[in-house]
Amino acid sequence: MALPDAADVQVEVARFEAELARAASPREAQAARDRFLGRRNSVVASWMQTIASAPPEQKKQIGRLANELKQAVEERWRRYAAGAEAAARPAGAVDVTLPGRARPLGHRHPLTVVRDQMEEIFSRMGFALVEGPEVEDEWHCFDALNMPAEHPARDMQDTLYLASPVAGDAGAPGDRRTLLRTHTSAMQIRYMLAHTPPIRIVVPGRVYRRDDLDLTHTPAFSQIEGLVVGEGISLADLKGTLAAFARDMFGTGSRLRLRPSFFPYTEPSAEVDISCWKCDGAGCAMCKRTGWIEILGCGMVHPAVFEAVGYDPERYTGFAWGIGIERVAILRYQVEDIRLFYENDLRFLEQFPH
Ligand SMILES: [Zn+2]
Repeated sequence: MALPDAADVQVEVARFEAELARAASPREAQAARDRFLGRRNSVVASWMQTIASAPPEQKKQIGRLANELKQAVEERWRRYAAGAEAAARPAGAVDVTLPGRARPLGHRHPLTVVRDQMEEIFSRMGFALVEGPEVEDEWHCFDALNMPAEHPARDMQDTLYLASPVAGDAGAPGDRRTLLRTHTSAMQIRYMLAHTPPIRIVVPGRVYRRDDLDLTHTPAFSQIEGLVVGEGISLADLKGTLAAFARDMFGTGSRLRLRPSFFPYTEPSAEVDISCWKCDGAGCAMCKRTGWIEILGCGMVHPAVFEAVGYDPERYTGFAWGIGIERVAILRYQVEDIRLFYENDLRFLEQFPH
């Protein structure tokens, strides 16, 4: 066979196109393809074979031409096959071989992301996750937590009471008014009544207050309550636990500061500040130039709380804390208006890591 040259490429491609045009069935078209592209005895294969017998200085040129022919024929075949397929399809039919249209995937709400992260940190530290009822009664929510009837938090101005009273249950006195729990601390009481120490739990959940909606308040928000009870539990354990949490949650350089405070159900009580993660304590707008950010309230469990659940306060000690999930989310994502978290505007929600 004579050595092919550039003009032969055009000739062979035209011949292939003519054969495809003549093909009366898919089978005939396939046969034409095989005559040009088949592994044995095809036009392309014979061109490849001539490389072996060609003079050394022409080998490269012939290899290039053979490749050019192969690609041109393959390209014509692809075009022919796509056209034949479209012709075989009734007008308006769906081509199931086309790639699908991607549907946008939903993702977790930023508050859920923060809550999941906190739960994950505390579970790794050995805490059990416990949930409790949002409809509570005043004994579990107040009395047992050392907030007697005259306590201001029990005022109608602060608490959302429900109409029907509930009958007494284990460990609690008779009929009581029901309410939407004002804090997850009510679950401390339910859990201690049902278990004996040692106790190490976290209680995430929604709580309700009679607050008007504004930049920093909503009538419903979320907390994570923590409770540790055992023998010989001290304030040092409280601080160590929260410091470990802060390092995990806000960065390894986080430092902790306890300021004396007051809660009826803990003694002593403290507000916990952590070093500002934005300026590392130097002072910036986020920490209001103080270098510290208040994130939670905590304290050692008040002996009166142990007495309410039948624990011996001489034998057991413990600590508890409550941290606001919205508060952490607001600080972490630097959101100025808490209401944005509840309006579910996708333009807002899509800005957060999932
Ligand atoms: Zn700062």
